[in-house]
Amino acid sequence: MADKIISGIAVATGIAIGKAFFVNRNHKAHLPRHTVAADLVPLEIETLHAAFEAVETELTDTREKVPAELKDYGVLIDTHILMLKDPKLAGTAEGYIESLGLNAAWALEKAVSDQEAVFGAIEDAYIRERMQDVRVVADKVQAKIIGRETDLSAISERAIILAHDLTPADTVQLQVDKIMGFATVCGGKTSHTGIMARSLGIPALVGVDKLEDYVHDGDLVIIDGLTGKIVVNPTETELEDYNERAAFFEEYTRKIKKRCQLPAETFDGSRVSVLANIELVEEVAAVIDNGGEGVGLYRTEYAYLNRTDLPTEDELADMYIDLAAIMSPRKVVFRTLDLGADKFISAYGELNEANPALGLRAIRFCLKNPQLFKTQLRAILRASAYGNVSLMFPMISGVKEVRQAKAWLAQAKAELRREGVKYDPDMPVGIMIELPAAVMIADFLAQEVDFFSIGTNDLIQYSIGVDRTNHHVSYLYQPLHPATLRTIKLVVDAAHQAGIEVSLCGEVASDPFCVPILLGMGIDSLSLTPQAIPGIKRIIRQTNMHDCRKLLKEVLKCRTVSRINTLVMDNIFKHFPEEVTFFSSLLENDESPT
Ligand code: PEP
Ligand code: MG
Repeated sequence: MADKIISGIAVATGIAIGKAFFVNRNHKAHLPRHTVAADLVPLEIETLHAAFEAVETELTDTREKVPAELKDYGVLIDTHILMLKDPKLAGTAEGYIESLGLNAAWALEKAVSDQEAVFGAIEDAYIRERMQDVRVVADKVQAKIIGRETDLSAISERAIILAHDLTPADTVQLQVDKIMGFATVCGGKTSHTGIMARSLGIPALVGVDKLEDYVHDGDLVIIDGLTGKIVVNPTETELEDYNERAAFFEEYTRKIKKRCQLPAETFDGSRVSVLANIELVEEVAAVIDNGGEGVGLYRTEYAYLNRTDLPTEDELADMYIDLAAIMSPRKVVFRTLDLGADKFISAYGELNEANPALGLRAIRFCLKNPQLFKTQLRAILRASAYGNVSLMFPMISGVKEVRQAKAWLAQAKAELRREGVKYDPDMPVGIMIELPAAVMIADFLAQEVDFFSIGTNDLIQYSIGVDRTNHHVSYLYQPLHPATLRTIKLVVDAAHQAGIEVSLCGEVASDPFCVPILLGMGIDSLSLTPQAIPGIKRIIRQTNMHDCRKLLKEVLKCRTVSRINTLVMDNIFKHFPEEVTFFSSLLENDESPT
């Protein structure tokens, strides 16, 4: 057996085998704390300032090398440089060395704690966020003082990059061609580590609690981005097995990629659109390369994050027009801002809510901040003149909410018309179905809009009552829960009865076990992460609707997830023998109590 097998959340698929290289650890745990003799105080103060200066020089250097595709991170690095220049932090630390004789790293820790105590009590999220930046900057200076810092650009051979957390500055410094895979203690499915790993096409895990306890620099590790496992110092047999799996996965990926531009059509001639979910406009290349027939979900909030001001209408319109024009005549579905819950913008601050996931998020936030909403609506409308653009509202809970959102859209259209600005007057408008309430009134909602898009990431969270970011309850996060399947079917049926199209854009759309069931329900389109498109298109092309409907019928009779798992596994074995090798392990540990 391997020394250890630990689990995390897989955020980018694939298998990587290589030497572990820690780029950072939670070094608070390793921080030396001692006092220095009075005659050594000046030297300790010098060490402190030298470390501040060295980190500033390094960051300035990094800032100049930020590649274009990561330009948003450049702004953050600027903020960090400004913090290093601000004499307050270093000054307070110096005071502690002088007055208490603390060693430099400890003195700085006390200076940061002082700031955390003051600012932590302030409700303004912007200030609290800046506090996190102070932490990042101080960590770097401390690492420099205690000689534990890592020169990321000096990774000499390809390695598996491990970290407590990866800051944007760390990410920018990494030499992409040296990274075989990633694993971090912090982070969730939507953290930028995951987004970057997916766009680079390398396997990655986040939320690996025990990473720092069980893995050491130089250990041989296997990152299994298919099942979310890290195998530490595997045995020869395990290594052989994973080498085989990795080779098989590579071969399979190459093979399916060759055919990814073919339409997603079943044996018996049913067509499904397979579109992509993107967060950044730069991802369009990956969409087209992987056979995406358009963008089914553009998560627009990323352009608002990592900055202290709000983007202007022109800034947004430039970006949106680029996207619409590049993708044209392919479709692009813009989702209006889904802020709140775990995504906040500095300009508005974090709301002090006890349950942010149930709070002022998404469409609720936009309706409360109409100026912000209208700026975005106008920018999307302007882009609609340049391509095949649709718009959808997230987190809709009732008919009136849709009507209110549409009223703002009508007002934005009227303004543009008066100003003589071009837009598509027939731009389709849809809503995301993410709340059980919306499911129950899907027939009413279908009368109000042109299409539905089912957001299963949230829909499962709200219907099973399981926080999508909490790994303690992730065993309950069940796409194949009978309730989830019934819920999705209700929505698909309501849409079709009203004669509108229905798409599914949650992670379920890239789940090979769920897709045949969704086809059986008659889903019109799927939208998923670009890298998963070739595999899902292949599954669609290898199946026929008759079998999918039969599977759905069987599955809908099942009372437990375990029973459904067995049925879908049988289906995979029967129809997709190649996929079995790596996907079957996803269902191996059926911990489901449901
Ligand atoms: C969803 O909830 O399924 C979805 C696609 O939206 P997001 O993951 O951005 O909340
Ligand atoms: Mg959602």
